[in-house]
Amino acid sequence: MSITVRDLSGVGEAAAQLLAKLHIYTPVDLLFHLPRDYEDRSRIIPMSQLFVGKTALLQGTIQSVDFPPGKRTSMAIQINDGMGKITLRFYQVYKGLKEKFRVGSSVRVFGEVRVGARGLELYHPEYQFVSPDEPLPASRLTAIYPTTEGLTQAKLRQFVDQALKHYSQHLPELLPSQCVKHYDMQAALRYIHQPPVDANVFDLAEGRHPAQQRLIFEELVAHQISLLTRRHYIQSIAAPVIQPSQQLIAELLAGLAFKPTGAQQRVSAEILQDLQHSKPMLRLVQGDVGAGKTLVAAMAACHVLESNWQVALMAPTEILAEQHFINFSQWFEPLGIQVAWLSGKQKGKARELSEHLVKTGQAQLVIGTHALFQANVAFKKLGLVIIDEQHRFGVDQRLALREKGNAGTTPHQLVMTATPIPRTLAMSAYGDLDTSIIDELPPGRTPITTVTIPFEKREQVIARVAANCTEGRQAYWVCTLVEQSESLDAQAAEDTFAELSERLPHLKLGLVHGRMKPEEKQAVMRAFKNNELHLLIATTVIEVGVDVPNASLMIIENAERLGLSQLHQLRGRVGRGSTASFCVLLYKSPLSENGTERLATLRASTDGFVIAEKDLELRGPGEILGTRQTGLLGFRLANLQRDEYLLPQAQRIAALILKDHAELAEPLLQRWLPEAPRYAYV
Ligand code: ADP
Ligand code: MG
Repeated sequence: MSITVRDLSGVGEAAAQLLAKLHIYTPVDLLFHLPRDYEDRSRIIPMSQLFVGKTALLQGTIQSVDFPPGKRTSMAIQINDGMGKITLRFYQVYKGLKEKFRVGSSVRVFGEVRVGARGLELYHPEYQFVSPDEPLPASRLTAIYPTTEGLTQAKLRQFVDQALKHYSQHLPELLPSQCVKHYDMQAALRYIHQPPVDANVFDLAEGRHPAQQRLIFEELVAHQISLLTRRHYIQSIAAPVIQPSQQLIAELLAGLAFKPTGAQQRVSAEILQDLQHSKPMLRLVQGDVGAGKTLVAAMAACHVLESNWQVALMAPTEILAEQHFINFSQWFEPLGIQVAWLSGKQKGKARELSEHLVKTGQAQLVIGTHALFQANVAFKKLGLVIIDEQHRFGVDQRLALREKGNAGTTPHQLVMTATPIPRTLAMSAYGDLDTSIIDELPPGRTPITTVTIPFEKREQVIARVAANCTEGRQAYWVCTLVEQSESLDAQAAEDTFAELSERLPHLKLGLVHGRMKPEEKQAVMRAFKNNELHLLIATTVIEVGVDVPNASLMIIENAERLGLSQLHQLRGRVGRGSTASFCVLLYKSPLSENGTERLATLRASTDGFVIAEKDLELRGPGEILGTRQTGLLGFRLANLQRDEYLLPQAQRIAALILKDHAELAEPLLQRWLPEAPRYAYV
């Protein structure tokens, strides 16, 4: 029988259930339940060097004791160590507590540094009255674990201690020997759980200690193995070999009012290379908003269509899918290609007809939303799947469309994202994809000027909208709310629409939000595109893909509530024509520190990659890729900013393991990604 936590002394049914809440079932799970922080009682921190949110051992002389007025009774004790001061705050003031703290005496305290009404404070610290030169008792760093209610740190520490003593020596080494330099597995875990007296606290607290980095490296290797095996698996099924288009592409380009940029041509060539192989293409095209990804997709489609295979293009929202449908119909119908439309909201006869066209192959090009994934949608001969705005779809969905290929073949996949993904993140989230970057905007674009304006000056902004629209240019007014609620957002947009309609009677206004019927939305979007409306009031539904070159002004209300990448996406709706464009970020003060930094970043840069790097720094990877993908990036230890430098080597070692030490792959996945799907390595 296998060993469980119940085999540790002191673990009964109740403790086992609490541990299960932390996903700890075995002593080995305990070993990998790593501290989230450390308590350092080994040194006294000078009060001039305190960090908010950190626990600290302090010692000082009591300056004053008083009971500040306020809703809750509390006692405040100020102490000073000659370099700084801090306030100790007690909310439960029992009889005699005040008498203990005598002005002029010396006290040693331990607690978490916070910001309170009097500046830096410790709430309910542990305290001990000492003589000023009393020596510190011998002590080392104490691990603090993530835990759950009812399970104390002391108990966890004691369980971990047993696991270290009795089970850590049996842990197998899963990395090739050249990777194990300073710490073997056992030594690394021991160091991390029970750091020695002389350990470097700062490195440990930040996860930069070599013992930690050794585990982090192993986790990154496991992730790369998972990505590589998936890639190999997908590529083990044959894909159609596509011939370069002779006719269609020339006709498409001849019908355009412009020439592809150098970057568009280069990326198209990279795609064509892939398509000519019998292995499925797995390519991610990154290009900032407005870089012209749609044309690159259309050029890729030409090759596949001319080789007599079907192409499916999928977008994350109805509006975006509709816009692609309109574009592609205009481009391809004159060339004799029938384009079909498939969306979730389409019902009855219309839906049946679309499905029929797709199934019989009459429609060679199919455009739609995630409805394309659904089981009852069958293709005659699907050769290429194009997914726009990838960050909104999960990997599972990507795999689902792959399965729509003919028996024995898998379609090529082209993924396009307008959220520039920092290189490190791309390596981890899309390590299974090849990447192309459209790093050049079409000529003639004028840069967007971004300004931030406090809500108090909203009047001036309305006047500016009026002036802009009277001069024949169009504008967007974007409404956002705190809650992620479509109906509240819609309400805000409706209110703003009513207000601005009254204020700007000489302008034609339109309204789009997520709660409108698709036909209604489409009609409004079309009217705006045809310059029949001056001002479009919208929710963030217009975030991706919408393309109206004559719109040169965008107002974003409550801009402080949105993330950087989302603001960048929204702003990308303007600056698509030749007139100078403006983006006004209306915010409510006071701004948080993070909010200030976000708005400043947007003012300073229009480069999507710069913004994405900053977003990664401010909000972490989950936010950038969308929640659906956080599972994929669910690192237990690794932090992509901190550990970026390890990635190239992790990728190399992962490949090496699969090549020369394949027997290590499964145990590594078992250790770090027990729930990830497994793909046989071939
Ligand atoms: P995105 O990469 O954000 O999807 P789009 O494909 O929507 O960008 O293109 C943005 C705009 O630029 C569209 O109006 C498109 O017609 C135009 N465009 C694309 N490529 C070029 C080009 N090479 N020269 C001029 N305009 C272009
Ligand atoms: Mg686009």
